[in-house]
Amino acid sequence: MKFPRRKTREVPCGKLVIGGNHPIRVQSLTTTKTSDLDATRSEIRRMLDAGCELIRVAVFDIADAQALGEVKKFVGDVPLISDIHFNFKFALQAIDQGVDKVRLNPGNIAGLSGTFDTVGRERVKRVAEKARDRGIPMRVGVNSGSVEKDLLEKYRWATSDALVESALRHCEFLESVGFRDIIVSIKSTNMESCIEAYEKFGEQTDYPLHLGITEAGLPGYGTIKSAIGIGTLLRQGIGDTIRISLTGDKVLEVEAGFDILKATGRRIREPEIIACPSCGRIAIDLEKVVNEVKDRVKDVSVPMKISVLGCAVNGPGEAAEADVGIAGERGRGMLFRKGKFLRRVPEEEMVNELEKEVRLIAAEKESGS
Ligand code: SF4
Repeated sequence: MKFPRRKTREVPCGKLVIGGNHPIRVQSLTTTKTSDLDATRSEIRRMLDAGCELIRVAVFDIADAQALGEVKKFVGDVPLISDIHFNFKFALQAIDQGVDKVRLNPGNIAGLSGTFDTVGRERVKRVAEKARDRGIPMRVGVNSGSVEKDLLEKYRWATSDALVESALRHCEFLESVGFRDIIVSIKSTNMESCIEAYEKFGEQTDYPLHLGITEAGLPGYGTIKSAIGIGTLLRQGIGDTIRISLTGDKVLEVEAGFDILKATGRRIREPEIIACPSCGRIAIDLEKVVNEVKDRVKDVSVPMKISVLGCAVNGPGEAAEADVGIAGERGRGMLFRKGKFLRRVPEEEMVNELEKEVRLIAAEKESGS
């Protein structure tokens, strides 16, 4: 990889460690009112089943804050993050309820003046001291919508420099009160500013960074926008946790997160299936084969490339580049393994044969042979 992972400090978060050389983690945020425990548990169950590694819940009022203990019992050892805006007392309550991390935006916990004034500082200090004493980290979440007034005046709008200065200011303040377990996110609906801000902030500090493109939109366009923004940063070695913000089903967020990590090569925890788009030369029912293979090997957690190609034009050459591949011929396929032609198999046996080879390769990789 051209860019190595950016060097960051390690920050504990429940059973996980964020930053350093630890895996880049996928996070998602529930949509339910947190104090509606049945709905919250049900949504979290689906997120966990999809592999979500950090569960974040919104704390809108004191009922939500007081429900966090029950939510924590439900998630078990999966880190639970409370997402706090405006009211620092909810953060104090969240810590008492046993959350593993607090996300807050010091800019909107500011004092009444709307700047990070002495009242705001005192409030954030109280949260920081409590978090420090309990050994839990905080994410400083800077957002273009809540940059302090003085910075907006200085930079005229929420430029990348304004976002970076805001984040640096909050981190310096937390460090000044003895709090070091800091993770930072810098979000903007303007992707260009967002990427620039992460780049600039990343050059100046060693804080682990949480990546997200805020309000990306519906799955489809939102996924593409997130993949470009987050993918650009990941390819530069920036990013320690990610969340794909999509409108709708949170399972899609989690799946998109792992897909982006896989496509950027930053974290591959399962086989990658490469399939041709198909065209008029197609010789097999490619879509059926690809879907069946995907389903059959979903329990395999060994990275490898599986290639399924529709015909013999480019198929053999491309299939040969994968760990295991098949190129269709009329009613049958040529099976390759690491560039070596193995045998021809009838179309109805393709899925079985591919699965067999995948499991052999997985066993070999696991045993180190
Ligand atoms: Fe078309 Fe064959 Fe290429 Fe698939 S591999 S897109 S079927 S030419």
